[in-house]
Amino acid sequence: MTDFAATRRLFQIPDDVVYLDGNSLGPLPRATPDRLARTLDEEWAQQLIRAWNTSDWIGQPARLGDRIGRLLNAPIGHVVVGDTLSIKVHQALAAALEASSRRIILTDHGNFPSDVYVAEGLAATLGRGHEVRRVAPDGIEAALDDEVAVLLLTHVDYRTGRMHDMAALTRRAHEVGALCVWDLAHSAGAVPVDLLAADVDFAVGCTYKYLNGGPGAPAFLYAAPRRAASVTPAIPGWLGHAAPFAFEASYRPARGVERFRIGTPAVLQMAALEASLDIWDEVDIHRVHEESVRLAEKLIAGLELRCGRELTLASPRDAMQRGSHVSFHHPEGYAVVQACIEHGVIGDFRTPDILRFGIAPLYIGDPQIERAIDVVAQVLEERLWDDERYRVRRVVT
Ligand SMILES: *Cc1c(COP(=O)(O)O)cnc(C)c1O
Repeated sequence: MTDFAATRRLFQIPDDVVYLDGNSLGPLPRATPDRLARTLDEEWAQQLIRAWNTSDWIGQPARLGDRIGRLLNAPIGHVVVGDTLSIKVHQALAAALEASSRRIILTDHGNFPSDVYVAEGLAATLGRGHEVRRVAPDGIEAALDDEVAVLLLTHVDYRTGRMHDMAALTRRAHEVGALCVWDLAHSAGAVPVDLLAADVDFAVGCTYKYLNGGPGAPAFLYAAPRRAASVTPAIPGWLGHAAPFAFEASYRPARGVERFRIGTPAVLQMAALEASLDIWDEVDIHRVHEESVRLAEKLIAGLELRCGRELTLASPRDAMQRGSHVSFHHPEGYAVVQACIEHGVIGDFRTPDILRFGIAPLYIGDPQIERAIDVVAQVLEERLWDDERYRVRRVVT
C-alpha cells in the first residue's frame, strides 16, 4: 500500500490544521488509542505481571527493533528499542570509542545539541583525553584523518534538512581507521537508509518524529553484526544481561544488540509505537521519499514565487541532498511561525531565524501544501506576524 489518500485516513488530525511538524512530533494514528486500550484492559488489567510473558512485553524492544530495522535495511536481530535518543547516542558513542585508542570525536556544526553535549560529557567521564572536534558540514571529509576515533553525525540536519552522504562518509571514515555513529532522528521514516550497504557501525534514532510513535516514544539503536557481539555496554543494565533472571552478581552481556537494553521497557509507549509501525509495515519508504520530494519542490516553488523577497531557502536546493523537511530564513522567523500556527499551518521555528516545514506524505498531500503556501504568503504579505503576542517566546519553540 502506498496509496497516500488511504494512509492519510489512518491519522487523526484536526480538519482545520495543516500539520507540517511531523518531523518534531508525528500525529496520532487512528489505531493507537485502541491498541493502547488493549494493552491497558486486556494485558495490564487482566494479565497483570503475567503479561511480561503472555503478551511478550519482554520481547517488545527486539520485536519493534526489527520492524524499524526493515525501514533502514538492518539485518534482523540488530536493532533494539528503548530509552531516549540522547541515551542511545551515549551508548553507541561509548561502544564506538571503546573500539579505538584514538582521541578525536569528529562532528559538524549542524549536529543536534544533545548529541554534542553527550559526546562532551562522555569524553569527560571517560577521562582518557577524548576531545570533540567540530567542523563545517562540508569539511567533514577533509577533517577525517588518522586521529579520529569516531565520526558522530546526524544524517539529516535538524535545522536545514541538509543530508550527508552516509555511504561515502562511512567509507571515508573506515579508510582512515575511524568508526561511525549515525543519528537518524530526521531520517527514519523520512528517507531511504541502507545501513547494511553503507556498512555503518552504529546508528541511533527516535520514533516520535516521522515514525509517529507518540510523545516520549522510545529510541532505537543499531549495531553492526561485527560490533554488537564484541562491545561492553557503557550502561550495563540487568535487561541487557545474558540471563536477567539468573540475577548474577556480575554483568555478562546479552547476545548481540540486546546488550544495549538497559532496564524495564516503557510498555505503554511501546504499544503506541507498535500501532504506528503497523502503518510503516505496509509502506514503501522509497515511494514515501519520492512523494516527499515532489511535495517539497512544490512548497519551495510556491513560497519562492509568492514570498521570495522575504524568505530565503535554508535547505539545499538539490532534493537529493535534503531530508524530508524544508527550511527558510526570515529575520522575524519566530513571529512568522506563531502567526502561521494561529492561521492553521503548524510548522516550527529553530533559532536563530529558521522556519521549518516537515513534509510527511503519509498525511500531507497537495491540498495541504497549497494551503500552507497561501497561509504563509498571507502572513507575510499582510504582516500578520507583526504583533506583540507572536513575539512572546514559549518554552518549547
Ligand atoms: C530530536 C533529536 C534528538 C532528541 O533526543 P531525545 O533524547 O529523544 O530528546 C536528539 N538528536 C537529534 C539529532 C534529534 O533530531
